[in-house]
Amino acid sequence: MESVSIVRASGYDYDELKKAVCELLEPLGGINAFVSSGEKVLLKPNMLSGKSPEKAVTTHPVLVQIVSELARDAGGRVVIGDSPGIGGFLSVAEKCGFYEAARKSGAALAEFKDGVELKGGGIFKSIRVARNYYEADKIINLPKLKTHEMMTLTCAVKNLFGAVIGAEKAGWHLKAGTSKSLFARLLLEIYLLKKPALNIVDAIVAMEGDGPSSGTPIKRGILIAGANAVAVDVIAARVAGIPGTLLPIEREAASLGLSGAVIEEINMLGESIQNIPAMSFKLPKGMDVQFGLPPLVTRIMKSHLTSYPAADHSICILCGICRDACPPVAIKIRNSALSVDKSRCIRCWCCRELCPHNAMGIKSGRLLRVLKKLSGKSSV
Ligand code: SF4
Ligand code: SF4
Repeated sequence: MESVSIVRASGYDYDELKKAVCELLEPLGGINAFVSSGEKVLLKPNMLSGKSPEKAVTTHPVLVQIVSELARDAGGRVVIGDSPGIGGFLSVAEKCGFYEAARKSGAALAEFKDGVELKGGGIFKSIRVARNYYEADKIINLPKLKTHEMMTLTCAVKNLFGAVIGAEKAGWHLKAGTSKSLFARLLLEIYLLKKPALNIVDAIVAMEGDGPSSGTPIKRGILIAGANAVAVDVIAARVAGIPGTLLPIEREAASLGLSGAVIEEINMLGESIQNIPAMSFKLPKGMDVQFGLPPLVTRIMKSHLTSYPAADHSICILCGICRDACPPVAIKIRNSALSVDKSRCIRCWCCRELCPHNAMGIKSGRLLRVLKKLSGKSSV
């Protein structure tokens, strides 16, 4: 059995949140069960881009500060590190509040720059991850609970994709192509290369809708923690009211027989999951829609049944960030106009994730729009 602890937390007030984090960790043995004196402890928050904490794109800095202080008090040498999807590391750290969190807790900040090539243990023969990530004695994973256009939800396992340095992420998207299960498998293989000692999920203010960067902050008032990232994700999905059938990471983890993938085998500590009020997060618009059409029809009508990115030309400033990040080079900017080549697009949604102006929208195929209207489905 894997243990997952869950507590309610009303907000990010320092004193109240510190009490809630201590309550959360107490049934798991407290911070001393995860950090020993002298160990180099890497805190891995979600540091996608330089957005203010209120946008709920990144892990809240007060939570990062508190966990950093707890790890320090347990004798750890704490480093806060990541590889932002967009923007310079220090400027992103400043905007997200991590610079201040590090200063207040006496932690160092470390950008993931230097990589180490590791032999893969599954279908990916070799995976390069950040050296500071791999060489840390302990990793404390601090994901934000958000919807995600490709993986439906991003939480503990997905947050570890940050261990892949900067632009190298695009290469992995390209390898996985349009296959969500292959990308989920990659994320699980990264997780298995170096498992975090502890995962603490910031679901106090989470994100629903068009996550992970353009969604809507939603008050959920929950903290989740556990040593097993898969089990933590399974519980996080229940907190978000999203069924496992829509979660490629959960499905893939179950098919690999990974520990923590089956909810019945998770030992809940603290608040019982049944006592957590039900809530269903709005799903991202770009998600695939399942109407149960015959596979042949779906194949023939693919372009009419699929959503693709499309820039809102009234907002887009043609900065080129999405074009430079697009793994299959499907975005072109010519004659002051941006276009997406649908035949190349693998629908990884990196362009939407990284656009700093929320200018990359979604255009659904005609038939898809009609079917959605008829079925009353907004996104599933
Ligand atoms: S869609 Fe966004 S990232 Fe792409 S060129 Fe326009 S403003 Fe820049
Ligand atoms: S256009 Fe956007 S969704 Fe399509 S492959 Fe490029 S980055 Fe991914």
